[in-house]
Amino acid sequence: MENINCNRERLEDKIVTFSKFGDTGKGGITRLSLSQPALDARAEFSKRMKAAGGEILTDDMGNMYATFEGSENLPRIAMGSHCDSVVQGGNYDGILGVMTAMEVAETMATEKIQHRHPITVIIWTNEEGARFDPAMMSSGVITGKFAKAKMLASKDNEGITFGEALDASGYKGEEKNRMNSKEYMAFVELHIEQGPVLENAKMDIGVVEGVVGMVNYEFEFIGEAGHAGTVPQKMRKDALFAASEAIQYLHRELDKLDEKLVYTTGRIICSPNVHTIIPDDVKFTLDARHQDPAVVQQVVEVIKEIPSELAKCKVSYNELWSRKTVGYNKEFVNLVEKNAKLYGYSNMRMYSGPGHDAQFVADMIPTTMIFVPSIGGNSHCEIEKTTLDDCLKGANVLLQTILDIDKASERK
Ligand SMILES: [Zn+2]
Repeated sequence: MENINCNRERLEDKIVTFSKFGDTGKGGITRLSLSQPALDARAEFSKRMKAAGGEILTDDMGNMYATFEGSENLPRIAMGSHCDSVVQGGNYDGILGVMTAMEVAETMATEKIQHRHPITVIIWTNEEGARFDPAMMSSGVITGKFAKAKMLASKDNEGITFGEALDASGYKGEEKNRMNSKEYMAFVELHIEQGPVLENAKMDIGVVEGVVGMVNYEFEFIGEAGHAGTVPQKMRKDALFAASEAIQYLHRELDKLDEKLVYTTGRIICSPNVHTIIPDDVKFTLDARHQDPAVVQQVVEVIKEIPSELAKCKVSYNELWSRKTVGYNKEFVNLVEKNAKLYGYSNMRMYSGPGHDAQFVADMIPTTMIFVPSIGGNSHCEIEKTTLDDCLKGANVLLQTILDIDKASERK
């Protein structure tokens, strides 16, 4: 039997169309959650999904569900991602998972492919957390990770709460429409890799096994402020100098651990941050990620070795947050790998460094992800790009994986 393929022109048309919603004019988009461009993208999604025979529902967090009835009364198979972006983001992060899921549903409709389970295409609300903190807000609420009341009160820069923006959007639906473990049996999220690994390895498809665990620590160094021109060097308690010693130490020691470990000091706050004053209070963060919890624990051990006094400054640290490694459904992971091979696409198994809605959903129903390459590893920027060929390959693997999941449950 010949492989079923998604429609290249129709997928390209979606990529072009959605890139207009929030177009910055410089190759990218700014499409913050529930902003007008995001609402325009949602309207386009509704229009196209209805045209293909889908029925649209939204839940109380504004998550959208376009459902195509199956031939039997069975739980749904879902796929999709998010349509919001960061400020000056690209045309692929999130939205490609929505567009490929739409393409799969449209292909199934136009090719009249029989399916037993209802198939649902999803848009998750506020994945980026760029307008309303935190990221992955709405998948987090429906899977019980975040308290809804607290999320509704989350404010953007202009003081508008998420709850107000949701009310005004027209996309607030009922709680009973949420994805749940009774009415849903699978979720597959296609996403761009957002890193350079697939491209460097010349791979078409990333078979995602899970999301790496991580820890995020904040360190604080307390010294003594003083005039840059008067305090003799030997008498100084320079908190920035102490912090820089600690950063050097961390890099030196963490480089000795497994080579797949990635770690970052991305934020440093120096007080009073005046060029003529010796810094007396410096904070910095350390984000460290690895798929093996034992390696993450080794990072924590390295942190614990930092003395409580460094360069005459007091040192303290605390864990801001952490996340355990999430493993995706092994059966689904195998299906993605099998299907990449089926189409003749080169592929490799990998873990996701960034977080995705799918990692929360994985706690509720069997879930997996498919990665496609990011040119130059670029993401969260306007030049973010995945070739149309690679988008289509991802869509095809997604299509066949959904069909396999639909068939597989027959045997149970
Ligand atoms: Zn994303």
